[in-house]
Amino acid sequence: MRHFDVVVVGAGPAGCATAISGARLGLRVALIERQTFPRFRPGESLHPGIEPLLQQLGVAEQLCGRAARRFDGQWVHWDGPPRFNGFGADERGIWQGFHLERAQLDATLLSRAAALGVKVQQPCGARRVLTKANRVIGVDTDSGCVYAPYVIDASGARGWLSHQLELPIRHCSPPLLVRYGYLRGRSATFARAAHLQADPGGWTWIAQVEERLLHWTRLTFEQNAPMSRATTLPEALQALPALGPLRGADVTWRITPAAAGAGYFLVGDAANRLDPASSHGVLKALMSGMQAAQVLADCLHRPALQVPAQMQYRQWLSDGFAHDMAQLQVFYRQHPGPPSWLPVD
Ligand SMILES: Cc1cc2nc3c(=O)[nH]c(=O)nc-3n(C[C@H](O)[C@H](O)[C@H](O)COP(=O)(O)OP(=O)(O)OC[C@H]3O[C@@H](n4cnc5c(N)ncnc54)[C@H](O)[C@@H]3O)c2cc1C
Repeated sequence: MRHFDVVVVGAGPAGCATAISGARLGLRVALIERQTFPRFRPGESLHPGIEPLLQQLGVAEQLCGRAARRFDGQWVHWDGPPRFNGFGADERGIWQGFHLERAQLDATLLSRAAALGVKVQQPCGARRVLTKANRVIGVDTDSGCVYAPYVIDASGARGWLSHQLELPIRHCSPPLLVRYGYLRGRSATFARAAHLQADPGGWTWIAQVEERLLHWTRLTFEQNAPMSRATTLPEALQALPALGPLRGADVTWRITPAAAGAGYFLVGDAANRLDPASSHGVLKALMSGMQAAQVLADCLHRPALQVPAQMQYRQWLSDGFAHDMAQLQVFYRQHPGPPSWLPVD
């Protein structure tokens, strides 16, 4: 039998941020990841707000150095002439996001966690949640049972723990599926900034994410709307060879309201998710992981605080989700063919 202060399921940005922050707070942390790295995951365009978080996690030097591919914002071709949506600026200058290979982000975060003494089990899947008297007490994994007063679900969009505990999930859009892919090549148009282009059925986002690699993502607002590479990509890109298959991901807007409870916290995409037009999934994953680690450390030190602390964490997540969703709704209302399912303003 193995005992820890916290068991984290999933070693994406949310899980690693929880594990690193927990270890820095002096907790004994186990991190379980079922895939071997590098694993494929989209999300290589990072919001500038990530930089201070990476600093706190102790990985900014490796990830935000001179080699990082920087950008100031993106071009939006929406309801009128194209406009440049910058991230903003302060007295130190213009805020810049950056493109980063996900494999590099994932590997750097994971090795930082291991260096801080986090017990990493990989590849090792979480099979079944262990409960006692209505409280989560551990995880049955591929390599045996692991026990801890807190289990963190950082399993991403699959929401492993929500399914295990049958937690209600609130869907805030109809089923939404994005298609995405990569092209080998370079385009001067997309080299300096990404472009988000509206069309009657949805939008397409294209960015030069590496010197010779373009990423495109396409969302259609209505299910089963036709989609092909030929209708999605601008003519200039259609001749470029694809790298890897055409992929799809479920990006239905959704939240699990009970994101914290007796013995557990949900972080990252496992807690809530919007489609990629909200553009900062990795930022939210890191933030929620760091926040959950702090709250659960408080709960371990002062058990009387457990219930109010969990309620506060739920509220914090739900306020952030509501804010981001409201912004996305305003943005989609300005689309030339807004989704029919948007609530009336
Ligand atoms: C097409 C597309 C484009 C995107 N582009 C961007 C972007 O440009 N910028 C951005 O910020 N965000 C982007 N996102 C969102 C971003 O990918 C996610 O928000 C982010 O990866 C969430 O991180 P996470 O740690 O919560 O989950 P994940 O990164 O999905 O990690 C979850 C981990 O849990 C592991 N796991 C799952 N189940 C188990 C189990 N039972 N046992 C053990 N391990 C398990 C998985 O193997 C995985 O490694 C995009 C999303 C999509 C679909």
